[in-house]
Amino acid sequence: MNEKIKLGVSACLLGEPVRFDGGHKLDRFITGTLGAYVEFVPVCPEVEAGFGAPRETMHLEGDPAAPRLVTSRTKRDVTDQMLTWGHRRVADLEKEDLCGFIFKSKSPSSGMARVNILNDKGMPEQKGVGVFALVFMRHFPLLPVEDEGRLHDDKLRENFIESIFTLKRWRECLSEKKSRGRLVDFHTKHKLLVMSHSAEHYRSMGKLVADSKAMPVDKLFDTYQGLLMEALRFKTTIKKNANVLQHMLGYFKKQLSADEKQELLEIIDHYRKGDVPLIVPVTLINHYVRKYDQPYLKEQVYLQPHPIELQLRNHA
Ligand code: SF4
Repeated sequence: MNEKIKLGVSACLLGEPVRFDGGHKLDRFITGTLGAYVEFVPVCPEVEAGFGAPRETMHLEGDPAAPRLVTSRTKRDVTDQMLTWGHRRVADLEKEDLCGFIFKSKSPSSGMARVNILNDKGMPEQKGVGVFALVFMRHFPLLPVEDEGRLHDDKLRENFIESIFTLKRWRECLSEKKSRGRLVDFHTKHKLLVMSHSAEHYRSMGKLVADSKAMPVDKLFDTYQGLLMEALRFKTTIKKNANVLQHMLGYFKKQLSADEKQELLEIIDHYRKGDVPLIVPVTLINHYVRKYDQPYLKEQVYLQPHPIELQLRNHA
């Protein structure tokens, strides 16, 4: 990649002292591990909308589809102030070319899901979305988003990071003159990655690319981007990955010896049963790809969709 991936992030997760009590919520995975590959664009809705730090705490109340943001002690409804700032801020963020956003969980401004919202009896229900997070997700419906709590889950973490790396590669593809040839090249390299998320999208994207002459180039790229981002929202699973691994085996039919084929089948089976992590069969396939210089597979992003140092495929 030519440049680092740009990612929006709730500022308190970077260690900025912007919380209601003047503290922060530094997340070392985000700043340390991920920070090596990412350039962050910090956003603190409550400070940037003018509430200062330290400040009175706030909460959500009312209808989860149109929540109100209210200060907890003085009961001031500050929703409109937050919305006015939020709409301006997302318009500004368009210039940043973000590949995703990591929100602070549970926050009435920044939480992307399951934020406490008080119902009409004053009881909290985990049905809310933070006011700024909602504005952001409606403005950028295709961008990958996660919160720092969910990123502790291995699968969600892998999926999110795979999505932001893929989106970055796509943006690099877009940075040059759009042509059918470029799209075919991008698609060819990402076929198996798409297949590992959604077989249905694999088929429809393949059809779109095969019939690419039927559509003006701009519309073709827009349609492809929509399908790509939609596909990445489907999580990979052991079953889907095992199908892709098995599919790859087909490309080696004539080259692998009977022993090598047997070994690979056994390792795929161990992966399917949860005995070994995905990195094990993928490493073996990468080994054969090099050994036999398999031309189609050596171009497949699926075999190394993100830096190996992130160890995202090392969990069984
Ligand atoms: S959760 Fe959001 S509003 Fe609260 S301190 Fe962090 S960035 Fe600011």
